[in-house]
Parts: sequence; structure tokens; C-alpha cells
Amino acid sequence: MIRLGLYITLAIFLALGAVWFADHPGVLQLNWRGWEVRMSVAILCLILLLYTAFCFFLFKLYRWFKTDNPLMSQQRQASRRQKGLLELDLGWSALAIEDRVAALKHGKKALGFLPTDYGPLRLLSKVDTEKNIQKHLQKLMEHAPTRMAALKSKFDQSCGQTGRRDNQKNQENLALLQEMQNITPGNPWIMRRLFDLYTRQEKWDDATAELGRMVKNKTVDAAEQKHLNAVICYSQALEANLANQKSTAQDFARKALKNDPAYVPAAILLGRQYLSLGDKTKARKVIEAIWKVAPHPDLSQFFLKLEPLESPSEKFRRIQKFTKLNADHLHSLHFLAKSALDTEHWTEAKQALNSLVTTGKAHQETYHLLARLEMMQKQDKTASNAMMARAQDVPADPVWQCDACHTRRENYSATCPSCHSFGQIKWQDAQ
Ligand SMILES: [Zn+2]
Repeated sequence: MIRLGLYITLAIFLALGAVWFADHPGVLQLNWRGWEVRMSVAILCLILLLYTAFCFFLFKLYRWFKTDNPLMSQQRQASRRQKGLLELDLGWSALAIEDRVAALKHGKKALGFLPTDYGPLRLLSKVDTEKNIQKHLQKLMEHAPTRMAALKSKFDQSCGQTGRRDNQKNQENLALLQEMQNITPGNPWIMRRLFDLYTRQEKWDDATAELGRMVKNKTVDAAEQKHLNAVICYSQALEANLANQKSTAQDFARKALKNDPAYVPAAILLGRQYLSLGDKTKARKVIEAIWKVAPHPDLSQFFLKLEPLESPSEKFRRIQKFTKLNADHLHSLHFLAKSALDTEHWTEAKQALNSLVTTGKAHQETYHLLARLEMMQKQDKTASNAMMARAQDVPADPVWQCDACHTRRENYSATCPSCHSFGQIKWQDAQ
């Protein structure tokens, strides 16, 4: 629209200029060695205009002759091709070390040597100006062998853009991924991105169907499928809970645990649901069931909330009984040791922590608790410091960590906030 306005303004000025010249034609006279040329200023302008157009045409002809000339000798063509490929290699190498200016320079040179090739366009589509990138991508899209690369570049661009509405971005990404899947059905990367995108849009049926395709394609194994199904159910349970549909939320949480009995967030959600209904027995049973297969500090916290009014010694006895459900586990022994320290049961605390040390299962928290024991029982600062020092030589405590991008998270979430992978945050030793 702005361009059209400029053209109209230019046309008006040209017309005004022509009228002015018609009213004031003037005369130009040139004498040279007996020759005499007379003409009006308007004619001179026209000659200059024609001369400029002729020069431009000549320049274009020269460019064509240098680059795309079919009459060029085979040897010369081969030499230009060689130079083009060299520029291309230099361009990719420059891009590898993030020197985008040099990559652009080499990319343009490569395009000059190889005007009909798609290689230079692929490089330029990564380093050129935004407007030119779209032009290069359009050309790559029109060429079947480079269409996939162009679609992937567009997908990457869209993912990297900020400030756009999520909904709009997701719709665009979905269209790109679906087209990529049409070109290469069964590609694991595309299937995984589609699955993640469906979950982000809360299209649970589509996500489950895509998961089924991934299993058929052996992109995920049976155990992973069960876990991902559990995370889908858990997400639906959270949705129902937010909508105050308590009974639906419970159903989904139970379904999640049926799929993956070691899935801690679903157990805590279900436990909370029971507790909010005043059903302490059912809440306790859920926590006890999962403690047998997957003890976790969040479950310990929930277990403590079940009996808020009990005395410290009652609490200790209850924890002793509870941790026997999975007696040798790291979190069972830490939970027991902490409670023993709080109630000054030094022997029990030492026994629990030493059993981790002697079996080689000690983590940093094991030594932190041993250090606390030394201080509380004997006020021995030297021994306590020695324990703190030994904590540096053992594995760090388990954390929620994303399997896809390895980012550590304070709290669990179904979708990784860093890389948007779904169902990849797991409780594990820090990597
Ligand atoms: Zn991640």
C-alpha cells in the first residue's frame, strides 16, 4: 500500500515535470568541429533516460553471459562450479562458528557461481535478512527435494519467535508438521513433535492416537507408552480438578496410576482428592501403595499431613512402620533418619544412614544428615565437617529432571517449560 502511494506520487511529479518542460522547452546547442546539434531540454532528458536503460540492459547481459551462459565452455562451467562449491563450504564453516556476516558473504558469492543450484539458497535461508530468507524458503519449498528442509526451517523459525500468541503459533506449527508427516510418514522426530504439540493444545485424543503410531513404529517402547499414557491421564485429571469436577479428576488420576503405578504426581493428586473428601484411609492407602514401588520426598510430606495432631514420638513410630514398606530404599532411610533425628533416636538414625553408606547407596543428603547427627548427638564440629566434606564425593540427590533437555526442575510438570517435551520430566539422579 505504501509502495503504491509512492508510485502514484512519482507519476504525478513526472507528469508535472513533463507539463513544465512543455511550457518551457528551452534550446540546447552543441557545436563541435563544424557539427551543430540543436535540441530541446526535454529531448535531452529522453536521450539520457534511454541511455541509462541501455546501460542497465548491457549490465544484465554481461551478468547473464558470466553466470548462466549456455555457450560457456565446459571447462569454464566446471571451474565456476568448483568455485561455487568452495564458497558454499566456506559459508557453512563460517556459520558453524556463528560468523553470520562471513557466511552471508560466501553464500552470495556461491549463488553468483551457482545461480540454478539450491545449495546456496539453503545457506542463505539461514543467514540472510528476514525478507530475503522468506524468498529463499519459498524457492526451496517449490523444489521437491528441498521442500522438507524448507518446512523444517520454517518450523524452527516459528518455534524461535517470541511475542506471538501461542494459539496462532501452535496452529502454524501443526500445519507444518502435518505436511512434513505427509512427505515422510513414520519419521520419529516428526511424530514426537506432533505428539508434544497435541498435548500442548490439550488435544488428548489426537495425542493418544499419535502415541499409538509411535508404538507401532517402535519409536517408544511399552514401558514408555504406559508412562506417557499415565501423564496424559494425569493432565486430564488436573483439567477436571480445575473445572471442579472432582469425581472425573479422581477417575483420571486412578487411570494414570493403573497405567504407571510408580507415577508419583498422580498418587499425590489422588491422595489430595481423597483427603479433601475427608477419606483419610483411602488417601493413606494410595500413598502406601506407591511407596512400595516408588518412594519420593513429596510422598513423605503428604504422609506427614495425614496426621497433623500426633505427638513427635507417635509420628516416629508411624514413620518406622511406613518406611518398612520399602525398607532399603534411599528415600525410606532418609525419611526414617530425619524423623529419628527430630525425636533424638540417635541409634536408629545412625543405623538407617550407615546402611546406605555400607551398601554404596549414599547420596549427598545421607552425609548432610550424618553431619547433623554428629552435631546434635555429640556437638562434634570436626566430625560434622568431615561428613559434609564426604558429601562432595557421592552422587547428588535425585531431582526432577527433563530427559530431553536435562534441565532440572524444582517441581514436577507434565510439559517441560524449557523444551516443551511432554512426559519427559522424571525423578532421577542429577546428570
Ligand atoms: Zn526439557
